[in-house]
Amino acid sequence: MTKMGVVDVRQPLGDDGEQRRERRAWHHDAQALHELAPDLPVLPGPLTEYRQMASFDWKQLRVLLEDPETLRVKMNLWRKLEADPMFAHPKATPSVEEQKRHVAVQLKRFVEINLIPREVHSWGYKNKTKFMMAVNAATASWNKNLSVKFGLGVSLFTNALLSLGTERHLPFYEAVWDNKFLFCLGMTEVGHGSNTKSVRTTATYDPKTQEFIIHTPDFEAAKCWAGNLGKTCTHAMLFAQLYTADSCHGLHAFLVPIRDPETLTPYPGVKVGDIGEKAGLNGIDNGFAMFDHFRIPRENLLNRTGDVTPDGEYESCFQNPEQILGAALENLLAGRVAISQESTHDLCAAVTIAVRYAAVRKQGSPRNSKEELSILEYPLHQWRLFPYVAAACSFKVFMDLFTDQYLEIVEQSYKGAEMKDITSMAAEVHAIVSAMKPLITWTCASALQESREACGGHGYLKSSMLGTMRADHDATVTYEGDNNVLSQQASNWVVRHWSLAKQGNSAALLDASPLGTLNFLLNAEDKLKKRFTGTSKTDVMNAHFVMASYEWLLCWLTKALDNQLQKLKSAGVDRFTARAEVQAFYAKPLALAYGENNVLCYFWEKIQTPGIPSEIKCVLERLLVLYGLWGIQRHFVIFYRGGYATGSQLADLVQEACQTVCNQLKPDIVAIVDAIAHPDAVVKSILGRSDGRIYDHLYDAFMSQQGHMERPAWWREVAAKPQSKL
Ligand SMILES: Cc1cc2nc3c(=O)[nH]c(=O)nc-3n(C[C@H](O)[C@H](O)[C@H](O)COP(=O)(O)OP(=O)(O)OC[C@H]3O[C@@H](n4cnc5c(N)ncnc54)[C@H](O)[C@@H]3O)c2cc1C
Repeated sequence: MTKMGVVDVRQPLGDDGEQRRERRAWHHDAQALHELAPDLPVLPGPLTEYRQMASFDWKQLRVLLEDPETLRVKMNLWRKLEADPMFAHPKATPSVEEQKRHVAVQLKRFVEINLIPREVHSWGYKNKTKFMMAVNAATASWNKNLSVKFGLGVSLFTNALLSLGTERHLPFYEAVWDNKFLFCLGMTEVGHGSNTKSVRTTATYDPKTQEFIIHTPDFEAAKCWAGNLGKTCTHAMLFAQLYTADSCHGLHAFLVPIRDPETLTPYPGVKVGDIGEKAGLNGIDNGFAMFDHFRIPRENLLNRTGDVTPDGEYESCFQNPEQILGAALENLLAGRVAISQESTHDLCAAVTIAVRYAAVRKQGSPRNSKEELSILEYPLHQWRLFPYVAAACSFKVFMDLFTDQYLEIVEQSYKGAEMKDITSMAAEVHAIVSAMKPLITWTCASALQESREACGGHGYLKSSMLGTMRADHDATVTYEGDNNVLSQQASNWVVRHWSLAKQGNSAALLDASPLGTLNFLLNAEDKLKKRFTGTSKTDVMNAHFVMASYEWLLCWLTKALDNQLQKLKSAGVDRFTARAEVQAFYAKPLALAYGENNVLCYFWEKIQTPGIPSEIKCVLERLLVLYGLWGIQRHFVIFYRGGYATGSQLADLVQEACQTVCNQLKPDIVAIVDAIAHPDAVVKSILGRSDGRIYDHLYDAFMSQQGHMERPAWWREVAAKPQSKL
């Protein structure tokens, strides 16, 4: 497995240089280009003009930024969804109830017509999960409601079932894939979300009947928010505190019947319903449930990490309940990886719409010029959008490479393969995911807002799709681990290794970070002595400056966080309070910077692939530099606070460089979004189509609304009263 450390771009040889020589050369075949990057419309117009300015072939970039196999799965799925009327998008917004019905029947069809072929299940963990993740991301771009419903009810559930359950649970796996059962994942309660340890639903074992009694003590302990629970699920994978006669053994997962699969009538003892209309994702029936001494068979405990014997003896391979919970939750990590992939897709769609619109939309002109300028020509507009384009490309590459590593590690551990550093790998993967899900979903959320604004008033039209995407995407920063809480787990892991860095113990650091994401801590004290000495914008407009600055930033943040924690400890502050004290100004910036650095390192690694055409390499380097400088200017305070720079030089040069790189990217930007764009039928935006005919599509949208030019049926209520003729 390739390590993804910080690459010293000045030193191509040495350990990293060896690795580079082993890299497989990049190549593409003409057939792949034709299939995965269908030709774009060649109508004369502003998009064509910008396309003609491009310095590279967008088709080649497309199959470089994403594994062609994964892209092929997505393109095939999109074609099938487009061809089936059941998956067509309604023209007007349906009622909330209708949205739920529509998505529920779409899910049924999704499984019925084998959009996921049966043979996938025999492919082995890595290939199967990679395929499913590609299907999930593609479905999310088509309709996020459908992917969430499918993810929770089928794919995430069956994945979790395989890792938490044992042979006796396989019939549930089969029933879900046969469309007989639909699941929900019930962790969150009305009174507890992030602090999963404290959920209060109980599962008490009764040895007389060999059953668990599921019980909700009060409304605050009601299960809440679970997708599919509101109206449609037949079962829940429910997390509850397991009690036997003698004690509580902590949180465990149980398979709990909720509704009769044939009538969808809830079982007696389960009070269940929908939580009501939400800000988005209204095709999902998020629900609540309260259990009144509801009995389930002993075998419905998912017993891979802990079990109860028929006579009530608790057995576990772990010492304490927190370890058991940790193992159970670790299995949900795939959900966070999938969310990061979906979010990357949404980010690509957002910038596709905004950049294409910016190329076509003309507003204002210089004095004495009759020709109006495309808003893409304005440096402010470039600065608002281009960093998000850079982020989209970088995240795409990161997710592609990291997903492969992640799945490989899980597969090897399932096989029981001899991996000496499996424990440290698991911890590192957990930290990476805990940093990346917040970074990617937050970046996408702000990109959606910026793109909406960048399209002006028309961006506010529902048919621009930006509002719908923004509302549906919004929840990703909260579910599957709230971003702020999740990022604490990443910073905790990083700071734990500061003592090794301080001792200069490189060997131990390398052991602790088999994927190399802690390499910035190697020789940390020396790195911290570095000072900014640049004198011209070329000193900062390169990958070496960006990556070396990030190393300094990360070392400083890690050391500062450790110092703060030590100071609080010496003052007698307990661990919990100390960790809370340092969150805002040390831990959260560290987690974000760690995530950004991971993106830069993986992207850099990708750029080094031999065989990439030089003109594409040049574009990729510009994107990397822009993404990095964008981050550096957000962290200016730390660079000055930590003494890396004094005076205005750093800020002046970085700002100048940002503007210059944007200007350099301008002729290529339309072709770059062509490379990351989903097909028109998937993006569904009248502003973001590949033909760039925004005004034709706006006209069609205005004219195709039902009754749009008719007098309203309620006209009498508002029209002036007739004047009396007397
Ligand atoms: C659309 C949607 C779908 C969902 N689907 C499911 C599902 O299928 N199954 C399920 O079980 N749940 C589901 N959830 C619930 C989701 O997992 C929780 O909302 C999430 O875990 C956060 O918990 P909470 O809402 O209780 O927020 P809280 O934990 O109460 O957090 C509220 C705020 O406090 C902050 N905060 C909390 N703890 C700390 C701390 N220690 N330090 C600093 N700040 C802190 C958080 O950052 C957050 O901003 C869904 C939620 C949504 C919105």
